[in-house]
Amino acid sequence: MSGRPRRLVLWDIDGTLLHGGSVAREVFAEAVASVTGRPADDSGVRMSGKTDPLIALEIMERSGILEEEARSVLPKVLLALEEGLESSADRLRREGHSHDGVREVLESLSADPRVVQSVLTGNLKANARVKLASFGLDRYLDLEVGAYGSDDQDRTRLIPVALRRVEERRGWRLDPADVWVVGDTPRDLEAARAAGARCLLVATGGYGFEELSALSPDAVLPSLEDTDSLLRTLPA
Ligand SMILES: [Mg+2]
Repeated sequence: MSGRPRRLVLWDIDGTLLHGGSVAREVFAEAVASVTGRPADDSGVRMSGKTDPLIALEIMERSGILEEEARSVLPKVLLALEEGLESSADRLRREGHSHDGVREVLESLSADPRVVQSVLTGNLKANARVKLASFGLDRYLDLEVGAYGSDDQDRTRLIPVALRRVEERRGWRLDPADVWVVGDTPRDLEAARAAGARCLLVATGGYGFEELSALSPDAVLPSLEDTDSLLRTLPA
């Protein structure tokens, strides 16, 4: 066994590993409309970096649904969201794509026994699985140790969830400093910093390279195509 430390790499999904097209947004609106019986207004609701429960609540607020009602129907909306995405998997595959370089870096890192890869995502667990499986990326990740929007609607509380799961499933007791979060928004960085983890931001989502660089994450890249640089950075 080499002396290199163990690492947990937590990938964000949307904007980082893949682009899902407009399907996800439409599925949200349909879920809200079907459960509340009222037309959903998602205009101006920016989804990137937010957890699914938070997005659902924002759409309901925007649609004129009072907070008390929104909170009480939220579980049903999330269930409708899961069903909606599951049945849209073919469209997701057609309209979306995984980002360049993603498969290569996931595959290379999955061959390193000192690295475990999973996700830190605002997606509900079921939705994360559908999206990743649609592009054949789930095989490289241990989704059982990931942390999801279904665990907590506040993304900044998710790293401790993943650390606990890694310890339960693998017996690895890692510190937050052993964790890399890879994401595409300031919210990924916020989640990493809240726990004391490192963060690599990539400009393949809604934010540009300059914009992300200005946040001073531990690393920033224009895309995930530079496999060599990623394989130097993430296990280090
Ligand atoms: Mg993202």
